[in-house]
Amino acid sequence: MITVMGILHRCIMGTLPWVPEPLMRRLSSRYIAGETLPQALDVIGTNASRGFAGVLDILGEGIEDEAAAREALAAYKQAATELGAAGLDCYVSVKPTHFGLSISPALARDLYAELAEHCRGLGQTMRVEMEDHPTTDATLSLFHSLREQFDHVGIVLQSRLLRTPDDIQALGSEAMDVRMVKGIYLEPESVAHCDRGLIQDAYVQCCRQLWSAGHRVALATHDGPLAERCLAVANELELTPDRLEFEVLLGVQEALWKRWQQAEHKVRVYVPYGPEWRSYSERRLRKNPEILGHVMRNLLR
Ligand SMILES: Cc1cc2nc3c(=O)[nH]c(=O)nc-3n(C[C@H](O)[C@H](O)[C@H](O)COP(=O)(O)OP(=O)(O)OC[C@H]3O[C@@H](n4cnc5c(N)ncnc54)[C@H](O)[C@@H]3O)c2cc1C
Repeated sequence: MITVMGILHRCIMGTLPWVPEPLMRRLSSRYIAGETLPQALDVIGTNASRGFAGVLDILGEGIEDEAAAREALAAYKQAATELGAAGLDCYVSVKPTHFGLSISPALARDLYAELAEHCRGLGQTMRVEMEDHPTTDATLSLFHSLREQFDHVGIVLQSRLLRTPDDIQALGSEAMDVRMVKGIYLEPESVAHCDRGLIQDAYVQCCRQLWSAGHRVALATHDGPLAERCLAVANELELTPDRLEFEVLLGVQEALWKRWQQAEHKVRVYVPYGPEWRSYSERRLRKNPEILGHVMRNLLR
């Protein structure tokens, strides 16, 4: 059914390519650290001085040639090196299609392995991110293959997907580091919960399942009531503080970061940067119209 919101969204999306660069930059600047690594390090350093750890993401996805995937690897290695040199508590987080998953799963696996080797040398962890559902099988297979060699690599799971409880089961008995998210991609109801309440209930249930199986969970959400429900489960299971942390997006709901920090939880801020910021922001807005609503509400606040 075509709704007024749907028509409005289509109109706004149609005008995106013509939004002038300075305005687009202003809209994105709150959420994206900049175009260069020094800009990102600056933001991560400022957050660190306020007691927040970091996650570094270089913007990019859907890479379709090997040379570009290798360039992404080089950029990530340099970023990890400089994070180490600056003594920052921050790990790197990579989208599988940024390392060429859609052209060759074997290539992506090799590039992740090279980065994992590099991060291990620096004493840093790293994470494989999760994209839309057609990539889930290949991403999990890549992750399981990496885990045979590296135990400092974590994964992301999405509560929106109906398959996630089975994917948690398949993680096995070795303790893993899992970032739990709702899932940013709007998925069809054949594979996903489409109702907000069901996605929230599934999120709590997935956290309970992960913790009960001995895994460590990064609660990556800005949904305060949902976080409270997860913390109640953590209390009930009498988890030690190292079994959970919060991960939040740069520029989003800072009051929550502070509330969780004051409650003595570790909070990591996800800091994206890169020259691809404009195409990345537009693709994200197209894939999930809700983000535009969030951005507009935050600007008005
Ligand atoms: C650190 C981190 C890493 C993530 N990694 C992945 C990943 O690998 N794969 C994946 O599919 N998803 C990822 N996500 C996104 C996640 O799946 C959700 O889409 C996103 O967090 C919004 O859901 P929410 O739980 O915050 O709740 P919501 O109910 O969507 O948001 C709660 C409130 O937070 C604010 N808000 C949330 N998102 C935004 C935004 N983008 N811009 C502005 N305001 C916002 C709004 O004020 C909103 O009302 C990640 C999220 C975080 C925090």
